[in-house]
Amino acid sequence: MRSRRKKSKSKKAKKKKKKGKKKEKKKKKVKKRVRRKKATEILKNEDIYSLFRKIVGLEGIKLVEILLEKRIVDEFKLAELMEKEVNDVRSLLYKLYMHKLVSFSRKRDRKRGWWIYSWWVDLPRVFYLVKKEKLRRLELIEERIKKNGSVEIFECPRCELKMLYEKALENMFTCPNCGVPLKAVNLEILRDRLKREIAKIEELERKYA
Ligand SMILES: [Zn+2]
Repeated sequence: MRSRRKKSKSKKAKKKKKKGKKKEKKKKKVKKRVRRKKATEILKNEDIYSLFRKIVGLEGIKLVEILLEKRIVDEFKLAELMEKEVNDVRSLLYKLYMHKLVSFSRKRDRKRGWWIYSWWVDLPRVFYLVKKEKLRRLELIEERIKKNGSVEIFECPRCELKMLYEKALENMFTCPNCGVPLKAVNLEILRDRLKREIAKIEELERKYA
C-alpha cells in the first residue's frame, strides 16, 4: 500500500514536470514568432528598401523578405518558396553577395554528394552601407553650409536629384530625369532631414545588428 502511494505521487510529480516543460516550449515559440515578424520590418525603411531594390529589383525584394523572415534558408527551399528555378534564385543571391549584403554557409549532402548553400541577410552590412552614404551626403552639406551659409538648392521630389541654382536654371527648374518641377530646399532643412534618416537607421541597427 505504502509503496503504491509513493509510486502515484512520483507519477504526479512527473506529470507536473512535463507540464512545466510544455509551457516553456510555448513561450519560446511565441518569442520566435515575434522576432520573425520584426526582421522583415527593416524593409519598411525607405532607404533600406531602395538599396535592395536597386540591386535586385522587385523580384529580389521578395527573396530578401523570405530571408529576413526565415533568417537562414537553403537555395532549394528558397526556390520552392519563390516558385522559381534554383538558378534564377542563385543569380539574385549572387547580386546581393557582390555587395556583401548576404552571407552563406555550405553543407555537403551526403546522399547526393553535392553542396547545399544556406543564405542569410548580413544585417550589420546593410545598416553600414545605408549609413555610409547618408553620412557622406551630410558631410558635403555641412561643408557647404559652413562655406556659403544656408543657401537654397533645388531638388526633384521624385528621384531626389539635387542641384544648385545655376544648374536648375539651366534645366528650367525641371528634373532632367523625371520632367517634374524642381522644389527649392533650404540646406539646413536638408541637413536636418538627413540627420533624422540616419537616426532611424541607427535605431534599427540597435534592434537588429
Ligand atoms: Zn527626378
